[in-house]
Amino acid sequence: MADFSFFMPTRIIYGAGSIKAEAESLELGKKALIVTGRKSAKASGALDDVLAALSTDYVIFDQVENNPGVDTTVRGGKLARDSGCDFVIAIGGGSPLDAAKAIAVLAVNDVEPLTLYTDGWSNKALPIAAVPTTAGTGSEVTQYAVLTIDEEETKKGLRGPDLFPTTAFLDPKYTQSLPLDVTVDTAVDALSHLVEGYLSNRASPMSDLTAAEGLKIWGQCRTQLEQGNLTDFVRERLLLASCLGGITIAQTGTTLVHALGYPLTYFYHVPHGRANGLLMGQYLQFTHKVAPDRVNQVLTFLGLNSVDGFVHLMDRLLGHYLDELDVPSHKVEEYAAKAMKTNNIANSMGEPTAVQLAKIMEKSIIR
Ligand code: NAP
Ligand code: FE
Repeated sequence: MADFSFFMPTRIIYGAGSIKAEAESLELGKKALIVTGRKSAKASGALDDVLAALSTDYVIFDQVENNPGVDTTVRGGKLARDSGCDFVIAIGGGSPLDAAKAIAVLAVNDVEPLTLYTDGWSNKALPIAAVPTTAGTGSEVTQYAVLTIDEEETKKGLRGPDLFPTTAFLDPKYTQSLPLDVTVDTAVDALSHLVEGYLSNRASPMSDLTAAEGLKIWGQCRTQLEQGNLTDFVRERLLLASCLGGITIAQTGTTLVHALGYPLTYFYHVPHGRANGLLMGQYLQFTHKVAPDRVNQVLTFLGLNSVDGFVHLMDRLLGHYLDELDVPSHKVEEYAAKAMKTNNIANSMGEPTAVQLAKIMEKSIIR
């Protein structure tokens, strides 16, 4: 078996005015399906910029909810087929971006969506141009589409090389309309990708490059995040850190943090990044015992001195949300058992057992 591979085919266009500057890279076909959430594409100004730059026909699908469900992607896929769209423009946070990826598959594969997880798909997804309006998921540079699966009471990632967007337009201006809480939650998602990527069993010298750089950039923003002092500079840096996090997890996958975070989102509606952040301190405590040098390296990149320093940082950013999170302790074992079945666990250092996962979760969320 090879030691590692590195694949990231997305063309990244980063900076103020990127859509206008490279409008030709937006047009990946003759007719676009524009996929968005209900408000953010308009509120951020990204939709206006896309429409001003686009010279092709288009249809808008603006029905994507947070943590999108499979049904939404079926509706989007049908609209793309019925309207003859041959490429997709995704605008929004991770939810619209991920939904757009599944829609790009379903547009050209008229199958039961859940079979995509088991059997894959035969026709390549429509090409996608992605415009993130949050700085968190890095979905604009990953081959993952995370969807909510009610039948299994969880969230699950579809993956495929054709889910990497062809082009990603990163303009920090689109993140200016984010409220402070969503900015913090999504920034912590980006942090979790960088940390988990660096501490993944699948980390390589090349994924370490993007993770380390992303962690240093994130570290430069942490004080301003705590203070709620979201300057243009901080917005720019966070968008870059988020993109570097996406490039990293595209290679390394995520770890037990994401696996344990999904039940908090599915059952208790904790936003994705916040769920990760609540778990990450205990994850670092656990991983420090088995890979102290790697964990110390993460802390150094972030400008922190100790795992406790990290725990306190997460506590200051997110700890107050624990007051409103009521997870009965008997449920924790059930969530840990479910998390054990995910691929993320094999990526986690220290071969965690179900009992250890339950401990990490219990210590994280039950005060
Ligand atoms: P999100 O669910 O896309 O958006 C959260 C909220 O923020 C929504 O209400 C959204 O409004 C609003 N919003 C987005 N951009 C805004 C802006 N610029 N101004 C004002 N409001 C804005 O949040 P997210 O954290 O970016 O994405 C989370 C999803 O991504 C989860 O499903 C998670 O599992 C997934 N994820 C995917 C990957 C991957 O590699 N593919 C990695 C990590 C996470 P609207 O309702 O208008 O959209
Ligand atoms: Fe994530």
